[in-house]
Amino acid sequence: MKYAIVIPDGCADEPQDSLGGKTPLQAARLPNMDRLAQMGVVGRSNNVPASLTPASDVATLSLFGYDPLLVYTGRAPLETAAMGIKLGPNDWAIRCNLVHIADERMRDFTAGHITSEDGRPLMEAMQAVCGGPASRFVPGLSGTLEFYAGVSYRNILVYRSDGTAPFSSQTRTQAPHDVPDQPIADHLPKGPGADLLCAIMERSREVLAAHPTNLRRQAEGKKPATQVWLWGQGRAPSLRPFAEVYHKRGAIISAVDLVRGVGVLLGWQRIDVPGATGYLDTDYAAKGRYGVAALADYDLVCVHIEAPDEASHEGRADEKVLALERIDTHIVGPLLEALPRYGDWRMLVSPDHRTTLRTRAHAHGQVPFVLAGTGIASRGQPSYDEVVAAQSDLSFDRGHELMRLLLG
Ligand SMILES: [Zn+2]
Repeated sequence: MKYAIVIPDGCADEPQDSLGGKTPLQAARLPNMDRLAQMGVVGRSNNVPASLTPASDVATLSLFGYDPLLVYTGRAPLETAAMGIKLGPNDWAIRCNLVHIADERMRDFTAGHITSEDGRPLMEAMQAVCGGPASRFVPGLSGTLEFYAGVSYRNILVYRSDGTAPFSSQTRTQAPHDVPDQPIADHLPKGPGADLLCAIMERSREVLAAHPTNLRRQAEGKKPATQVWLWGQGRAPSLRPFAEVYHKRGAIISAVDLVRGVGVLLGWQRIDVPGATGYLDTDYAAKGRYGVAALADYDLVCVHIEAPDEASHEGRADEKVLALERIDTHIVGPLLEALPRYGDWRMLVSPDHRTTLRTRAHAHGQVPFVLAGTGIASRGQPSYDEVVAAQSDLSFDRGHELMRLLLG
């Protein structure tokens, strides 16, 4: 049996006035996803336990069949895994966004979707000035600070320590994408180690303000990265390999380090696709081609697309619809055509979490999924969307249990 999972990140949403009262999934023309719905089953699942923050880290663990309440330690350690950075038992990884703050408000958690080419020298400047002994920020700390450039605005700070780190499970930080345009003073780190995080963030303002890359961006009319924003801290999680738990060999295609990192930690092969950007301009067709090709070598191929989530964060309903239609045409369609060539097959389409256009932020709650293929009986549902899913009697309160249904 061959399996494919397609994740349109954050696609689950609410009815939109601008879409004639339809949700983006309803408004989009999705012939392939609707075909899956008609031949299989549409249901709903909850990938984010109430006690955890709704985001791709937690939700992806659920989608991949792992209970986040048991295995989740934080977002950044998952990304460091994708970046090939090893964490020791006392090390902490911390997400280090390049952000654009104006009037002391979180104006853009992506610093204008800064390119990796522009982000890298800024992170190198952070390493040069702020890297090294943490005691330069908070006297008495024994650890060292390492800054790593990632993809676009998504970078990593590692706190390395032979002994104890200043952070704990009581350390509170704020995901910047969930506080658009809000005053940052209300959302600074709190609890153990917050003094260190705040000091680094404060110092980064000076480091970045004078940097030639930022000056050039301003001259070009682009948003400068005004500072780093630290959040998502955690130690390395220990996850049992997917092949051991589910006896399938998996591969992951995603432009986003976080999602790749979850796959890599499960022992899935990471497949990089040229032209995959993690944004609205990603090369959908290339992801579809690589996904189809990977079916030859792996039992399970997962293709993740960030674009619907990004469109939601920008409050652009039309772009969200467009992203869904491109996913349907260029990724779901080709996979659906290729899978039967291998004999028995199954395919799952599901977002990780909800991202609503109304709030431009992630949200708790159930997401619609569609599952079809060998041995899955049709329930006569007409289409894949939130309304059909809400009427379905197939519901998973613990999203990680859906994997058992997929793998049968
Ligand atoms: Zn998001």
